[in-house]
Amino acid sequence: MKPEEHQSPSETKDLVVFDIVRESKCAECLHELWKGDFLFMEGRRPLCLRCADLDHLVYLPRGDTALTRRARKRSALSAVVVRFSRSRGRYERQGVLVEEAALDRAEEECRADSDQRCAKREQNRLRLAEQDRDLAASMTAVIIRLFPGCPPEEARAVAAHTSVRGSGRVGRTSAGRALEEDALTAAVIAAARHKHTPYDRLLMRGYSRGEARNAIRDALDRVLESWRCLAS
Ligand SMILES: [Zn+2]
Repeated sequence: MKPEEHQSPSETKDLVVFDIVRESKCAECLHELWKGDFLFMEGRRPLCLRCADLDHLVYLPRGDTALTRRARKRSALSAVVVRFSRSRGRYERQGVLVEEAALDRAEEECRADSDQRCAKREQNRLRLAEQDRDLAASMTAVIIRLFPGCPPEEARAVAAHTSVRGSGRVGRTSAGRALEEDALTAAVIAAARHKHTPYDRLLMRGYSRGEARNAIRDALDRVLESWRCLAS
């Protein structure tokens, strides 16, 4: 895979340096370049970094977004390092080449405000937790409207369980977010099945899911029936 066979992997005007996956040769000093060496394409000519006047730059592997952004901003000359991924069939960013002084300054800046960024992350976490609580509270209200006989603490437990961030349970689906009644009804039924019928015990005893569901159907219906009516 020769770099010159490809368009620049980046639409921006970044200088691009290739972390090569196949041997090449500098067109100027004829220095051999091995897999893992950096190469710059000047037009169609592969150059080693020295011949490309980029060898004073230092390599900063990707991973720290703030540091990368700052180091590039502080660097008069910088380049994006990419490597061709055979499995994905495209170039992927590996890091950047920046001036050493710029990297030093960026590191200082990041140290200076790491506390601040820490606090911001914490704030963000609290805000998300609050949203979760709001979501769980409105879900609880919907559940109690649908199942007035459902004990409030159980409704709350189902809502909390269902709204856990990123859990992939129904509360995080668009249906759950919209507090769609079907999704919540399904969550209540699932909870009732586990908690108020021998379903789990049957599964432990080797029943298949279908067999266990058949066996507990009447018990489950009775629970749901009583929850659909107002508690006496
Ligand atoms: Zn060279």
